Amino acid sequence: MRYQNSYAQLDPRLYHKQPPSALNNPRAGHFNSQVAEQLGWSTDQELMERWVEIVGGEYVPEGFEPLAMAYAGHQFGQWAGQLGDGRGLLMAQVLDNNDTLQDLHLKGIGLTPYSRMGDGRAVLRSTIREYLCGHAFAQLGIPASNALGFVVSDTPVRRETMEAGAALMRVADSHIRLGHVEWIASFAPDLLGEFTDYMIDTYYPECRDAEQPVLAFLSTVIERTARMIADWQLIGFAHGVMNTDNLSITGSTLDFGPFGFMERFNPAWINNHSDHTGRYAYQNQPAIGYWNLNVWLPHFMRLEGVTRETLADCLAPYETTFMQHYQQGLCRKLGLPHEQDSLVLAFEWLSLLEDNLLDYTNSFRALLGLVVPDTHPHEKQLLATLSHELPPEALAVWQDWRQRYLNRLATLATDEVIESLKNNNPVYVLRNEMAQRAITAAQQGQFDEVARVYDLLSRPYEVQDIATDLDTTPPAPDAPQLPISCSS
Ligand code: AMP
Ligand code: MG
Repeated sequence: MRYQNSYAQLDPRLYHKQPPSALNNPRAGHFNSQVAEQLGWSTDQELMERWVEIVGGEYVPEGFEPLAMAYAGHQFGQWAGQLGDGRGLLMAQVLDNNDTLQDLHLKGIGLTPYSRMGDGRAVLRSTIREYLCGHAFAQLGIPASNALGFVVSDTPVRRETMEAGAALMRVADSHIRLGHVEWIASFAPDLLGEFTDYMIDTYYPECRDAEQPVLAFLSTVIERTARMIADWQLIGFAHGVMNTDNLSITGSTLDFGPFGFMERFNPAWINNHSDHTGRYAYQNQPAIGYWNLNVWLPHFMRLEGVTRETLADCLAPYETTFMQHYQQGLCRKLGLPHEQDSLVLAFEWLSLLEDNLLDYTNSFRALLGLVVPDTHPHEKQLLATLSHELPPEALAVWQDWRQRYLNRLATLATDEVIESLKNNNPVYVLRNEMAQRAITAAQQGQFDEVARVYDLLSRPYEVQDIATDLDTTPPAPDAPQLPISCSS
């Protein structure tokens, strides 16, 4: 691998160098060959042979330079002070096959100076959820962290009950969070200039050419964040814990914890069981993204040329960027051009889903059954289920909408409509119950279901033979929600 451990060269106040604390008897959970290939990991025989030892913290290869990062953050709207890598270590930074810098970060690997009250460990359950979701996002084409693989172990970890300790080698284009800057502002303000230069030179080199590189950098972070959240809304994803310490400065989704994928459409849906006020409900995500950026930006006023006014100018386009990206995506999900009449149809469609608690993923995919009557039986089935689930009073609304939608489609090239429907509406997302089934089997030592779900999510836009009905069936409308909490 082509190591480029640049973070380890920064001021030592920003991190603590230390080795991982090994798990007891680590065993392979799953390995992501695609990521190994991308990193150049797969061309190194030693790394391939010893990956379980490495991810289990038993062996640190040459070239690695493990360290825990210091950061701070706002959690659930409150200033939380110093946080930092309490159970993870940045192990190495490498240039991947595309010459993009990637962080290898080992999560669940023991105490650090930032562990506070925690035990430095991660349980198998949350490790599998993070592993599968990173893979799902990669294949859906949404910027996010992914992982090289994970291991399970005999190290006991206490949560609500005793669980097996696990570790995940997370791979992300950066682990710098908004909270890094918040930490610097509070604990080492003299480092802000140097750290901002590092962020620009490493992740936003194109901003160097701008008249005011810092403002160009901030504008780009804002734009990427808005686009990332639009991607979440479109795919029906709720992150669950959008604290400033969980948002990356590169606009890649980070820290998959109490996340969920929308099933029966309800914009007010709260997936995180620990989120009592619904701060991080699905529909609040765009506003929370703005809130986070808004508490983050003023720290840069310490730098030359950055004023309250110039920051306000940077943040002003956030909403427009979000709306544009979201509305364009919504039109693509319907196979329509981005025009006003398409948006009217789109919002009527979303109301139909909401009023009748229809499954978000399945309903969009069912449109293929409408447009291509001889499509795959799966989409025909989805369409039949949709009509079947509508109560009599909603049938007329559906029929009327369907007719106007088909009339609009009749003016467009059918092939393009089909392509757009197929490429923007996945058949498979990581439903909570689906992850849970893989977890339950893994807790009994069986990793086949993790592997099957991994394979299924490798091609989310194609109907696959390895799928079962359970992979595409939402819970009954009145079923209690599977409790997904911050406990991990
Ligand atoms: P999270 O809510 O998972 O984003 O974590 C917030 C902060 O708590 C981060 O600084 C984590 O490193 C830390 N943390 C979470 N779980 C643990 C744990 N089991 N041991 C130590 N630190 C933890
Ligand atoms: Mg976190």
